[in-house]
Amino acid sequence: MTRIIFATTNRGKLKEVNELLNIPTISLIKLDALKNQPIPEVEETGSTFLENALIKARAYFSVFQEPIIADDSGLTVPELNNEPGVYSARYAGPHASDNENNALLVKKIAGLPIEKRNAFFHCVTVYKDDTHEEIFEGKCYGRIIENPVGSNGFGYDPLFFIDELNKTFAQLGTEEKNQISHRGRAVNLLTEYLKKMI
Ligand code: IMP
Repeated sequence: MTRIIFATTNRGKLKEVNELLNIPTISLIKLDALKNQPIPEVEETGSTFLENALIKARAYFSVFQEPIIADDSGLTVPELNNEPGVYSARYAGPHASDNENNALLVKKIAGLPIEKRNAFFHCVTVYKDDTHEEIFEGKCYGRIIENPVGSNGFGYDPLFFIDELNKTFAQLGTEEKNQISHRGRAVNLLTEYLKKMI
């Protein structure tokens, strides 16, 4: 069994990635489940998702010396100068809740016509061990609605509407979301890679 540390404390993400990365010989462990080991604070100082994912993968690998999966993801709204982007988790402030971030986004898109509310989620996932550093990416396109719909998922899910499905991300089950989501796409590529490598 190969143990891989998933560099997150976000339960929503872990749930999705655990279901995706379903390889019997790999056990995925999240940072705060590492017993008796202090978790170092790693600041996401990058200006892109890729920079942040690499910062986390390299920092945690240097501390734990074990295989690491790190990712950075977020929402981009081109009409809002690509906001919230790398600030997705802290859009309304350093410790903002999902509700606070969502409220700010709704305020910013208020009055914008539908065709200017296009948005995409982007996920960059990095796998790192002592000899490999590999990058996997996925995107998912939709648009932002003004009133939240649905109660599944996390983050901006209730505001992210996919026309083809006529549903928001928050109306999808985990499996359904994983099939089309940015994270689903990135982790599928990672899974293919790990199956060959491990
Ligand atoms: P990270 O933990 O630094 O990658 O920040 C990701 C942030 O982007 C989350 O806190 C959410 O606000 C947002 N985000 C990323 N992926 C999703 C998703 O699948 N649904 C909703 N929000 C997401």
